[in-house]
Amino acid sequence: MNYKAFLVKYAEIGVKGNNRHIFEKALRDRILQKLSPLGDYHVVREQGRIFIECPDGYDYEDTVEALKHTFGVWGFSPVVVIEQMDWENLVESVCEYVGQCYENKNFTFKIEAKRGDKQYPITSPEICSKLGEALLKRFLDLRVDVHNPEKRITLEVRKRAYIYSETIKGSGGMPIGTAGSAMLLLSGGIDSPVAGYQIAKRGVVLNAVYFHAPPYTSERAKQKVVDLAKQLSKYTDTIRLYIVNFTKIQMEIYETCPHEQLTILMRRFMMRIAQIFAEKENCLGLVTGESIGQVASQTMHSLFATNAVCTMPVYRPLIGLDKEEIVVAAKKIGTYETSILPYEDCCTIFVAKHPVTHPNLSSIEKSELLLDEHIKELITEAVESTELIII
Ligand code: ATP
Ligand code: MG
Repeated sequence: MNYKAFLVKYAEIGVKGNNRHIFEKALRDRILQKLSPLGDYHVVREQGRIFIECPDGYDYEDTVEALKHTFGVWGFSPVVVIEQMDWENLVESVCEYVGQCYENKNFTFKIEAKRGDKQYPITSPEICSKLGEALLKRFLDLRVDVHNPEKRITLEVRKRAYIYSETIKGSGGMPIGTAGSAMLLLSGGIDSPVAGYQIAKRGVVLNAVYFHAPPYTSERAKQKVVDLAKQLSKYTDTIRLYIVNFTKIQMEIYETCPHEQLTILMRRFMMRIAQIFAEKENCLGLVTGESIGQVASQTMHSLFATNAVCTMPVYRPLIGLDKEEIVVAAKKIGTYETSILPYEDCCTIFVAKHPVTHPNLSSIEKSELLLDEHIKELITEAVESTELIII
């Protein structure tokens, strides 16, 4: 079947009140942004839908992939557009559509008619019964089932008519850019890319920060994070990825503070530095891939101690998920295979044999006092030497 157009349906935007048009316009812009590298598509808003007209010679699969990666799209249907609106032509076009679309016609169907143009002389119930009859007459294997049909063949009558019978599921969520920005702490693991995806899905623009510890962590470990950011960016806008050299700060903590507290102390410094970049990017929050109890640094006590240095909200969309559930999500969004590549992370290199699982905030703060003014210089140095990669 040679489709020239798609109809996009959106769910949650549909229930927005007075500012609905803002969300619709954002979705239209996002769809256009995702499709424009593929060709000269026309994307227009039309009565609660977005209608996409494809350029000649466009690639169907690439278009479907791009739409599946656009938040705000609930689903989309490849449609046949009929310009000539006389009834005989509509009937013939629907018969032709079914003839071409389905090789095997041994299925049950229901006609669904939507009459956007109330001037059209035939009512929706009439359209359904007449079209149903015509199809049954033309294709003898077809059967009608109005309650539980295998195929719903839809005819929408507007200024033009649209025929479709398949809806491809989109990613859902809200268009990127309708909900402010956030700074994702992106490690090379399984969790943080999924956390970023979940936040971006609600319309948030993502930026990211990665802490590495050369020469203890390799160039390949850094490349892995860049690759993860690239995979995430298929769903998002451009990601501004800050790469912070954390080595000196880690060494200083390692040499000065009790080793069982290392991870918590490092996490507190990561949060502090992430906030500096978050403020620079006008972000309204930080995002991490933490989940209660997953590791020693993610017990409620550890999160309490880490969170104590944060002055902006920290979003932890995976907080109640089991690892198994996060793995399923990572596979679905396409980051899992990269995440499991076996490159070292800065946290695991300086990790203690027996980390605290129930850190006490005042004892953590006391340990930080052991770090004199020098740590501030190290933070400034780390911030100033940070590399920015635009993805
Ligand atoms: P992940 O799979 O996302 O790496 P994890 O299970 O390894 O998570 P931790 O290493 O305890 O968990 O990290 C918890 C969270 O802290 C991560 O999800 C991420 O948001 C952040 N984080 C950890 N290490 C780094 C890093 N090197 N750079 C940036 N963020 C990090
Ligand atoms: Mg990690």
